[in-house]
Amino acid sequence: MVKLTKSPLPDGIVINSADVYRSGIAFETLINDCHQKCYICEDKPTSINVEHIVAHKSDPALKFDWDNLFIACWHCNNIKSTKYDDIINPVLINPEECIALSVRISDNFIEAVQVIPLKTDAQALKTAELLEIVYNGGSTAMKKVESANLRNEHLLPDIKLFLKYISDYIDEPDLGYDSIIRQEISCSAKFAAFKRRIIAEDTELSVAFADALA
Ligand SMILES: [Zn+2]
Repeated sequence: MVKLTKSPLPDGIVINSADVYRSGIAFETLINDCHQKCYICEDKPTSINVEHIVAHKSDPALKFDWDNLFIACWHCNNIKSTKYDDIINPVLINPEECIALSVRISDNFIEAVQVIPLKTDAQALKTAELLEIVYNGGSTAMKKVESANLRNEHLLPDIKLFLKYISDYIDEPDLGYDSIIRQEISCSAKFAAFKRRIIAEDTELSVAFADALA
């Protein structure tokens, strides 16, 4: 998860049914604000849900509250369900200051994502718990397979390519890889939290790309 900025509800739009936020200018604004990716796992979804960050069961007004709406993939939406209401709202709190995400690639395989809470408040811990299940699988066989696919079919190739850009940049600093890296660590990129952490934890790269990490 990375920080997001939500636009105001477009002029003239009144959310009084799910159809309003699932189509037209409201949906376009929502998906652009979320950079066409799931705000939880940061993958680009092939199955899109408009997600209520706080479940609306206990308060029906939340169903049509613009500030409560985000884009999520089916996998994350289904895991989050109503069980993880009190998670970090990435518009209000920078998730990168609360949770560190990293991977160790061995034999062309990511066995598990490391999800490390950096803070001990309830929201940070609850969000870390959700991300642990999203990336590493829950108690069901189905979720384990979905998470393994997320790690090894989606996250792995993306991170491997990013590591190649870094290696090419170090070998040939003048060939323009710096602009590709800047793009890859912008909050709009897929799996940006992982890539930004890789740069932030490297002594030299964190200085070279300090402006892009800000
Ligand atoms: Zn997701």
